[in-house]
Amino acid sequence: MSMRAMQLTAPGTLELRTVPIPELGPDDLLLRVGAAGICHSDSFVLGLPYPMGDRPLTLGHEIAGTIETVGTAVADRVVGERGIVYLCWSCGVCRECLGGNENVCLAAGRTAMPPCPGLGPDGGMAEYVRIPARSFVPIGDLDFAAAAPLADAALTPMHAIRGAMDQLRPGGTAVAIGIGGLGHVAVQLLKALTEATVLAVDVDPDKLALATACGADHTLLAGEGAAAAILDRTDGRGAEAVFDFVGSDATARLAVETVAPNGAYRMVGLAGGVPGIDSGPAGGPGLPWGATVRKSYGGTRTDLIDVVALAATGAVRAEIERFDLADARTAFDRLDSGTIRGRAVLIP
Ligand SMILES: [Zn+2]
Ligand SMILES: [Zn+2]
Repeated sequence: MSMRAMQLTAPGTLELRTVPIPELGPDDLLLRVGAAGICHSDSFVLGLPYPMGDRPLTLGHEIAGTIETVGTAVADRVVGERGIVYLCWSCGVCRECLGGNENVCLAAGRTAMPPCPGLGPDGGMAEYVRIPARSFVPIGDLDFAAAAPLADAALTPMHAIRGAMDQLRPGGTAVAIGIGGLGHVAVQLLKALTEATVLAVDVDPDKLALATACGADHTLLAGEGAAAAILDRTDGRGAEAVFDFVGSDATARLAVETVAPNGAYRMVGLAGGVPGIDSGPAGGPGLPWGATVRKSYGGTRTDLIDVVALAATGAVRAEIERFDLADARTAFDRLDSGTIRGRAVLIP
């Protein structure tokens, strides 16, 4: 039995290939993929100058689909159930996993990520994908294309926002930098979960229009003067929480220069930006007293269950552009050129 899969076959090369349908272990499920989202991480992996492994890799870590086959040892799932896939394929038994922090599983080591479909094991840009049964989260009757981005584009901002709830008091200000796949969902989550004023920042006026449609109270074009404008809006004090969904040098500096004393600066985007923090008294645009910096990775299984619940009520809705699986290259090019509104989703 064979299937179509969009595979990374060499650095920079995506190919739609016919490959065997994955074989299941006893604790696995075979999912018939309904939709798979495209993330900047996929684009990053595609752009690496060296191979990801010693074999072609099927990308895709935002996966929604229907259970096609159930592993022999799986008792609690049935064929035909619809769901999405929790992307941290962690050990499930270490202290962090048992405490609910599967995104920082001890088995992953100090700085690595837990195994993630499409970034090690084969992912969901295919007709079928093998997943550990534990990673399956039911979605009821949510549309697959709308549900797939919940697996990362909603999960990851949910976790970052939850980690800053102490700072996000009513009347405070939350800044979301980068209104792409994660950022546009983050704006909705901030409105659904907090009474903070939400200020969206992006380099692209179209993305700011999307932020407004998602409920942002104010928008601001990034660039010269953006930090001063945010300080102006916050009585010179800064924002109680700044979420950087880009992670470039420029956005990292903007976060440092606009977070309030005792505020929360959350690094979410993985562009490798250097915030330029030092231990001295700031006395100027630097990091203020008491502000915390957190590198926020992915989210917990609970975060995922909660964003699915928010999607079910309609409080959160991923903006999507659909592409046929065979047109993945076009979708990646659009993502790289910054012209996707919300999330690009592949339909096999
Ligand atoms: Zn991702
Ligand atoms: Zn673990």
